[in-house]
Amino acid sequence: MTEISRITHWIGGKPWSGTAQRHGEVFDPATGSVASYVDFAAESEVDLAVETARAAWRSWRGASLTARANVLFSFRELLNSRKSELAAIVTAEHGKVLSDAAGEVQRALEAVEFACGIPQLLKGGFSENASTRVDVYSIQQSLGVVGVISPFNFPAMVPLWFVPNAIACGNAVVLKPSEKDPSAANFIAELWAEAGLPEGVLNVVHGDKVAVDRLLEHPEVKAISFVGSTPIAKYVYERGTASGKRVQALGGAKNHMVVLPDADLDLAADAAVSAGFGSAGERCMAVSVVVAVDPVGDELVAKIAQRMPGLKVGDGRQADSEMGPLVTAVHRDKVASYLDSGVAEGAELVVDGRAHPINGGEQGFWLGPTLFDRVRPEMSVYTDEIFGPVLSVLRCPSYDAAVELVNANRYGNGTAIFTNDGGAARRYQNEIEVGMVGVNVPIPVPVSYYSFGGWKDSLFGDSHAYGPEGVHFFTRTKVVTSRWLDPSHGGINLGFPQNT
Ligand code: NAD
Repeated sequence: MTEISRITHWIGGKPWSGTAQRHGEVFDPATGSVASYVDFAAESEVDLAVETARAAWRSWRGASLTARANVLFSFRELLNSRKSELAAIVTAEHGKVLSDAAGEVQRALEAVEFACGIPQLLKGGFSENASTRVDVYSIQQSLGVVGVISPFNFPAMVPLWFVPNAIACGNAVVLKPSEKDPSAANFIAELWAEAGLPEGVLNVVHGDKVAVDRLLEHPEVKAISFVGSTPIAKYVYERGTASGKRVQALGGAKNHMVVLPDADLDLAADAAVSAGFGSAGERCMAVSVVVAVDPVGDELVAKIAQRMPGLKVGDGRQADSEMGPLVTAVHRDKVASYLDSGVAEGAELVVDGRAHPINGGEQGFWLGPTLFDRVRPEMSVYTDEIFGPVLSVLRCPSYDAAVELVNANRYGNGTAIFTNDGGAARRYQNEIEVGMVGVNVPIPVPVSYYSFGGWKDSLFGDSHAYGPEGVHFFTRTKVVTSRWLDPSHGGINLGFPQNT
């Protein structure tokens, strides 16, 4: 029998075993077996990581922009050359298919590439002679130690939404990844070390609420970037800001895809299936609601349903799998429970994912793709973020009714409109209260030189993730007003300084 491996923290540039009084089980979701144990940090271990980061920050903050950019470029090269290893790690613990994991790593690479431009990004403003012989300029400085807390669904990409910008801006980081798929974070930390990042600038502590709470209250943690479910995002935002930290907390989602009568229904059906069931629906930008504007409902539902039996659900490591298992048995059971509650509440179960053929281990955490039609806004399949392969179709009498529905939803992460009418699309982008909008693009994740973030209960805080807002989040601005005395200066003046 093979021995089950142990995943340790990463502190001060190396694996750190610590006290390991508590640990969690990490599963292979395709077989249902325990793949490894992950250490759960005690408060004292979080403290050690923060102190280590704080010590490293003292010199890293002074590293030249060239030195920092060099580390980023090296990391980029290493990540690029080892991206298939990282994708394999993601698939093994998360379950998503390899091609999807490769896409995740690719998006992570793009975030790294953005941060490589840090010398350009940190250029401040300069006003010569703002007053006579007085110059005014702004500089952007690092915050100190920052905490990054990430969810299970993008174990490589979400940490790398934040870590490159944070480091490039001169901060030191303590990363607390999801306990469900923790190995990607350690692999990434190893690559940073190999890229020449000084010891202690990036640390990884594994664990649960104990580690998160300690990061939220530690006085030396100056900012928190969090991504996860809405209740925890709200909690992290409230507790972190109450202890004086800068916090950006990205939460859950219910993303609507509105299909207008003039849309190409084959393209719309393809998009709904791809965006609804890709990564088994475990994406914060997954489409979970299709809003069919009359009279397209019957035809659209038929086209979506037609495509579903052909989806190959199986072990993500098999080349022909299109959709993998869910991340844990608990999560699978929770998602599956909505199939019963949807029926009980009166939705029409058009395709039942429990009957879908599966190509994988019997004990794997499987659930095939499910389609509900005639869902109504008060049903739990609509109000709750299910975070699994369950697509709900709501029918709306008009464009206006569709907009009203989307705007009344508590979440505002992503949305898409499918239409051939440019005027309608333009109106939608203007009227919709959602942070990221796709026009005939079902998953409108912004490229790395824009920023990612939702509205309403999908984001607590002011700053979106990565891109320019990421740089803003990880720096604070100082404005210097400077005069160099010269012989023409003289005399005492007790008046209030005036610009002359
Ligand atoms: P989660 O909220 O359960 O966990 C996120 C992080 O919080 C993990 O590191 C976890 O260890 C920690 N955590 C969990 N419970 C906690 C508690 N009680 N106190 C303190 N910390 C706690 O989320 P998840 O299940 O890992 O990820 C899925 C969720 O993340 C979905 O809701 C999804 O929409 C959301 N998500 C949002 C975005 C976005 O950009 N808006 C991106 C990815 C995922």
